[in-house]
Amino acid sequence: MDRRSFIHSSLAALAPPRERAEALDASLIGANTAISGYSLAEAIGLLHRLVFFTIEIHIMGSLLPNPGQFPGFQFDRLTRKEKQAIAGSLRGFRHLSTHLPYTHLNFFASDETVARASVREIEIALEATAYFGAELAVIHALPASGFTPDEVWPVTVRRLREWGDRARKGGFRLAVETGYPKSVRAFVRLIEEIDHPSVGCAIDVGHQSGYQELLDRVSAEQRSTAYGIRAYNDTTLAIIEQLGGKVFHLHVHDIDPQTWKEHQPIGTGFVDYLRLVGKLRDIDYRGLLVLEIAAPAPEMPARLAESKLRLERFLSRAVCNRNQICAPEGGPAGRGTTDRDGRLVNTGPTHGRVDPPRPVETVRRLR
Ligand SMILES: [Zn+2]
Repeated sequence: MDRRSFIHSSLAALAPPRERAEALDASLIGANTAISGYSLAEAIGLLHRLVFFTIEIHIMGSLLPNPGQFPGFQFDRLTRKEKQAIAGSLRGFRHLSTHLPYTHLNFFASDETVARASVREIEIALEATAYFGAELAVIHALPASGFTPDEVWPVTVRRLREWGDRARKGGFRLAVETGYPKSVRAFVRLIEEIDHPSVGCAIDVGHQSGYQELLDRVSAEQRSTAYGIRAYNDTTLAIIEQLGGKVFHLHVHDIDPQTWKEHQPIGTGFVDYLRLVGKLRDIDYRGLLVLEIAAPAPEMPARLAESKLRLERFLSRAVCNRNQICAPEGGPAGRGTTDRDGRLVNTGPTHGRVDPPRPVETVRRLR
């Protein structure tokens, strides 16, 4: 562990671990470990160095670097020592979430024999989530191959309720990520029908491109127009508005206006973060904001640092707008942000309720 990581983790150890933070304070901005070509330890180490206080780990993949694959692990294949090492490396983060497996799975198949192996994989990942003390697990509601949506629906509702029970026992919440079912109406209906206190949704800002309501409004030629872009943002906001307190989690990044390709660095696309943050404040959102940025491994430190900084600015500007007291454009963005190399920069004052991650100030004094 390098000195900065050591200071980071020892300071975080002083704070009550995994406390409930102020709504939308900058320490809730995190990132996932999805950096292909990195080992899990390297990915966690990078997020330490970039002074993230929130992290999301993938409970799939392998510990060691595997080109073309995100680092992670299969919990039942880890030795006790490996589990302890991972737990130790996560100790410095205030907030931890997990992403459950989503590839090659058929866990909502109505035929038990088809579903069995996939269901087991999810259950092991839920066990891992509890083991590492995460506060939330993200799951994708996948279609089941060979079954109609009507056949799959009751199984989906039943299994997510069962997994909600496991989550409650394990001390965390379960968030179904947007993207499937492919309409605002069906997605909202699913979460409402599950009707479980520990099950809500994870809004991914870039997973609405196939949603029926959006396709009904926007033709292929209109996609990169101001009208098409507004309609995309409206679709995401409609889910948040309709689900309100059931919005447990957010995946944040940007969307290329030409291609609608998601997972771009924040500030390079059309996601309307001021509107989004305003809407999140309206519903008194208390969850995390996890960056999901896709870039070649050598670019990831810079892309993550920039995206973190821009998101911090959006949080503080949205506060200014609502309080009618605005910082000058390009003005202070909150202390404790990082530059391209992960160095701490930008120590100007903040506004309103945006509370910068306090340990960072102490890190500066110690350096
Ligand atoms: Zn996502």
